[in-house]
Amino acid sequence: MGDMSKASVLGKYSLGVGDRFAHQAEAQLQACIDAARHGVEVIPVWNKSNREHTIIGSEPANTRAAADAAVKKLGWDKPYFLDADHINFDTVDRFLKPCDFYTIDVADLIGKPIDKAEVSAFVARHEELHHALQIPGIEGTVELGREFVTRVADKYLAAIKEAGRIFRKIEKAKGSGTFITEVSMDETDTPQIPAELLVILAAIADEKIPIQTIAPKFTGRFNKGVDYQGNLEQFSREFSDDIATIAFAVSRYGLPTNLKLSVHSGSDKFSIYRPIREALKKFDAGVHLKTAGTTWLEELIGLAEAGNEGLQLAKQVYANAFAKREELCAPYAAVIDIDPKRLPTPQEVNEWTAAKFIATLRHDPQNASFNSSVRQLLHVGFKVAAKMGDGYLNLLSKFEPVIAKNVTENLFERHIKPLFLEA
Ligand SMILES: [Zn+2]
Repeated sequence: MGDMSKASVLGKYSLGVGDRFAHQAEAQLQACIDAARHGVEVIPVWNKSNREHTIIGSEPANTRAAADAAVKKLGWDKPYFLDADHINFDTVDRFLKPCDFYTIDVADLIGKPIDKAEVSAFVARHEELHHALQIPGIEGTVELGREFVTRVADKYLAAIKEAGRIFRKIEKAKGSGTFITEVSMDETDTPQIPAELLVILAAIADEKIPIQTIAPKFTGRFNKGVDYQGNLEQFSREFSDDIATIAFAVSRYGLPTNLKLSVHSGSDKFSIYRPIREALKKFDAGVHLKTAGTTWLEELIGLAEAGNEGLQLAKQVYANAFAKREELCAPYAAVIDIDPKRLPTPQEVNEWTAAKFIATLRHDPQNASFNSSVRQLLHVGFKVAAKMGDGYLNLLSKFEPVIAKNVTENLFERHIKPLFLEA
């Protein structure tokens, strides 16, 4: 798929970081610098979705400025990228100039009707998928077949055609090979099994989209801000089989050789880090892990740790989020499980010490005070901080050191270490 040697290439390990208020780029980059000191190159990718920009009222150019400034100040000499996360044909425009990584989200088009002739042509073109396949690294055979391929094509072809249309729009604006392309299908209800992933990759190759990352929907629940919920054994097997499938598709369909999985974690999926690390090792494969909201929660933790007005502000954010909980949760209904009975009233929270506030919010499931409902509500509650405007931003600047410490430590200790540094 063209000469990749001079083009934008995403390294083997990369970490998506989200910086909702464009104040933590340095602290986030510091976590990658710490990783480099420990001998592992982790490429930072600042991701921010159109939805987040809209809620906050920010522009992708702000994220670009913050990332560039951090890179310059800390002397980062390795690549870094800016991800236009979850864009579509209509929302991509304002990301065209500042970004160099595009997550083309076509989940909404899954299952949309497609011309039967297109499906038949695809099925006819891919005779290699008309029977069960042996894929190196996958136990047993992968069940495919003409009927299966027809069904998968029927379900996904409209989405992949649209991904091609969006890709070509970006390519026309930016030039070939100057950006990284991801296709995401994670924000949907049904997971894609490895056999479906193979058919999807064949269709993406047909569309000539040079994807370097793909975000399927994995089995289990990826709720915002809390740990993975689901069958870990099944996740491990599917994740490993997905990597094997990608390697197979790369050689069979000529997709970019660095193509890897992108895990949209919705913050902290700690329990899947071990299976992911083991699968990466088994196949010597790379991965892109997207985090985002985890950093904004560290801002709140840092504010609380600062005490006094910082703690007051953190409590005010909770009170406002509590008051607006229904409105805040609605756009994220599919990816949160908040038990309203477990949400303390703002009056109760006002009585809390900083230590109690931090223990409730910090993602340490071993801590008896940890409250996943509070954490999820605040995870999706960044809009109330955005509404506070300078009242919020000024304290981010004032308490920068204690906030930065929490942001860096969270990314390095809880994400980078277990994923990339443990044996
Ligand atoms: Zn996502």
